[in-house]
Amino acid sequence: MNNELYDKKIKCPVCNNNFNTKKVRSSAIRTLKRDSDLCIHYKTVNPYFYGVFVCPKCGYAATETKFTLIKKSEISIIKENIMPKWEYKDFGSERSLDDSIKAYKLALYEGNLLNWEKSYIGNVCLKIAWLYRYKNDKDMEDKFLKHALECFEYSFSKESYEMESYVLAYLIGEINRRLHNYKEAINWFGIALKDPGIKRNRQIENLTRDQWRLASEEYKSNKGENNSDILL
Ligand SMILES: [Zn+2]
Repeated sequence: MNNELYDKKIKCPVCNNNFNTKKVRSSAIRTLKRDSDLCIHYKTVNPYFYGVFVCPKCGYAATETKFTLIKKSEISIIKENIMPKWEYKDFGSERSLDDSIKAYKLALYEGNLLNWEKSYIGNVCLKIAWLYRYKNDKDMEDKFLKHALECFEYSFSKESYEMESYVLAYLIGEINRRLHNYKEAINWFGIALKDPGIKRNRQIENLTRDQWRLASEEYKSNKGENNSDILL
């Protein structure tokens, strides 16, 4: 028995099945550090592992906040496309890192199937990238960071989204920096800093300035490297 976890009762909006999913007690959460793209590392149990609810009976999967928001027309899409292929699998126990990757990938697959907002898809991809980071799988981490980036860039100009615009601009900048797109990173950090909202969040403002400086240095030294490559 893991005392850091408790059971939450869920009713599936697709098949009406009642099931339990684990959640982390907030009193049990201990953070270790936060990466520059806002990924938190935990000393003990990781609440990200339980961020996706999966109905064991029909296979419907979505993040905690989205799970009950599925529309009637979308329910039939899950019934037609997921249910017939689904073999009973229960994600309701303590989850390993690999279990949680599976749960998020399922949510990603279904989110794409339902054509849900890019901000949602981007957030799911970002979480998958972070889970691969915990696994030290850099190739898979980068693959999902790229997906997240594409979604966030689309979302920034074409959708409404829940995040503050300066946080989203910062995040787009920082993911670009991590993927070595330094020019784009600098541009997005600039967008974040011009956003009047950033004045309300000193932490993000300072982080943006720091990462902007870092991206500028990386851009300069990277240009140098590229030049020497050409010379060779
Ligand atoms: Zn269900």
